[in-house]
Amino acid sequence: LEPERTITSARRVRCTGESVPTPIHSFVSLQDRYGLAPELRKNIAEKGYLTPTDVQTQCIPVLLEKRDLAAIAPTGSGKTLAYLLPVFCLLGAPGRSGASEKQAGARALIVSPTRELAMQIHNEALKLAKGRKWKVVVLNKATGNALRDKAARKKVDLLITTPLSLVSALDEGILNLDNIRHLILDEADRLLEEGFLKQIEAILAACSYPEIQKAVFSATLPAAVEAIANTFLRRPIRVIVGVKDS
Ligand code: ADP
Ligand code: MG
Repeated sequence: LEPERTITSARRVRCTGESVPTPIHSFVSLQDRYGLAPELRKNIAEKGYLTPTDVQTQCIPVLLEKRDLAAIAPTGSGKTLAYLLPVFCLLGAPGRSGASEKQAGARALIVSPTRELAMQIHNEALKLAKGRKWKVVVLNKATGNALRDKAARKKVDLLITTPLSLVSALDEGILNLDNIRHLILDEADRLLEEGFLKQIEAILAACSYPEIQKAVFSATLPAAVEAIANTFLRRPIRVIVGVKDS
């Protein structure tokens, strides 16, 4: 095992963990280093994003190298793109739903504490996915009903949901999470609180893909909440931007 390493960049990013991936300081470098699809590059440019934000410099390579991650960065620091970009990059071609029948369906899952946030994430995801045929779905009553159809279920690449919608869909047997390879908990401080914890535990238990990558993103992560996250993160890299609240 390699020793723990702490990297403090010139910016306000602190990063700890084993074998921390080198940060990226431009979106262009992602093309050479990780084979970022040209459409993704173009869509980032169209959004007017010139350079990665602090949290993105470190989180994007960490996720692209399939490491687990706990990211703590203030509101407005660009956490959404910090996970969406790597997730789309890792998804590769749309609709590659996996070999077995059991493993058919969404390969990436984003859980958000509120419906509003889920819809904002969906918006960002659609802009980023433009020009490629990825199927991005926000789970609600209507989309849940549509997913009762097996063929429709197979086409989903990325699923965005609140814990409640997802747990109801799981309980009803509408979908399974056997093929989820990337799980993101956004605003994890809220998701890992009392109110949601049971649902998050059910979701984690349903994610049966052995090599699943997990990441939590939050503006704050009190020590007790981070301890919960560390029960399901494997060899996580921890990225902190600004001051840690705990
Ligand atoms: P957070 O989730 O950390 O609160 P968001 O992901 O909502 O932050 O992003 C905050 C704002 O920053 C959004 O308007 C988003 O479009 C913008 N943004 C994200 N990444 C970049 C970037 N690399 N360059 C410029 N603006 C960005
Ligand atoms: Mg956010």
